[in-house]
Amino acid sequence: MKYFEIRHGVMHIEDIPLPDIAQRFGTPCYVYSRAALLAAANEYLQVFAGQNALICYAVKANSNLAVLNQFAKLGLGFDIVSGGELARVLVAGGDPTKIVFSGVGKTEAEIEAALRAGIKCFNVESAAELETLAAVAARLEKVAPISFRVNPDVDAKTHPYISTGLKENKFGIPLQDARAIYQRAQRLSSLRIVGIDMHIGSQITEITPFREAAQKLLQLVDALYKDGINLEHIDIGGGLGVRYRDENEPSVAEFAAMCREIFAARRTQLLLEPGRRLVAYAGILLTRLLYLKTGETHDFAITDAAMNDLMRPALYQAWHPIEKVETRVTDDTITRAWNIVGPVCESSDFFAHKRTMALRQGELLVIGAAGAYGMTMSSNYNSRPRICEIMVDGKTATIVRARENIDALFAGEFVLS
Ligand SMILES: *Cc1c(COP(=O)(O)O)cnc(C)c1O
Repeated sequence: MKYFEIRHGVMHIEDIPLPDIAQRFGTPCYVYSRAALLAAANEYLQVFAGQNALICYAVKANSNLAVLNQFAKLGLGFDIVSGGELARVLVAGGDPTKIVFSGVGKTEAEIEAALRAGIKCFNVESAAELETLAAVAARLEKVAPISFRVNPDVDAKTHPYISTGLKENKFGIPLQDARAIYQRAQRLSSLRIVGIDMHIGSQITEITPFREAAQKLLQLVDALYKDGINLEHIDIGGGLGVRYRDENEPSVAEFAAMCREIFAARRTQLLLEPGRRLVAYAGILLTRLLYLKTGETHDFAITDAAMNDLMRPALYQAWHPIEKVETRVTDDTITRAWNIVGPVCESSDFFAHKRTMALRQGELLVIGAAGAYGMTMSSNYNSRPRICEIMVDGKTATIVRARENIDALFAGEFVLS
């Protein structure tokens, strides 16, 4: 955690001690390092600089306007999955001509909004969606740029909930059906075929599944060329994993080398849709220990953050690093193999099991690598207001999303008269 480091026994984010953040903004809160965000994006930009490539950040990983704005200013494109994400990207200053729209269930209203915005491409995921898209475009007297998301039937070897490139998954068009559907699209005058797309899953920790899937994709591209369909871009999706614990973390350079090798002779533009890899390390969840509850068989450390704030452990049994903000061990710390849990009424409300640490009631903890799929998956479960988000730039901390107040919890609710 280069942007989060212990100085004189206190964890800092960039040049600010985390206790200062807690005092000023309260806990729990998400805290992001601007420098870490820029470093992750610049790594992609530099590594792919020699190639005709467009990096489209997958918005669902972290959709805060300030995050999107930082990436927009670097010239990144965006991969969106809803009309809400489209609106966010536009408000944050994203270039509509660099937006690709993925997802198996785009509504007519969402399609219409994206057509009016003038996005780069719709990643179409079914024959039925194709017909709807063609009809909406025709009604608006527009031509929709499309690619098909094909499902290469490759095992990404990740958690089943985030594996998307197997034939039993709901995503994409089966490889063997792709030529026929491209031919169908060619006959629809309100559509323009521009590309092909895949996304085989998330938190993938080896290069091999990407290579295998991309090779299958290229065979299809060549078959399409023989059918008279010449593509402008090939989108190989996102999914590059990060190290939460001890996972293998393929480098972006390794990933780019694989791309260069197999796309070598092609002039087609390469699109990438990284989400997690651009934001995971840049964010932490800062939380305070409310109570320690020791028992005969289990010891619980109860935090003010809960599963509704960071759902990954409950949803995927995900492992996150957890560290003390102040490292000093005092007389009142208790060393146990703690189950670190939140206050929500669910046994799945945990952040860690059996973490051996010396803890003290009232101290601050950092749940690390929480910049991706943290805030975006949060909810109001148990009527807990959504927490605030802070972005740090050097010595400056800025609130980039306010903590919800209690009134906001039921502002849109009404009782019968
Ligand atoms: C979620 C998603 C991504 C990003 O995945 P990461 O694992 O966060 O890189 C990219 N493309 C599509 C279509 C997605 O659904």
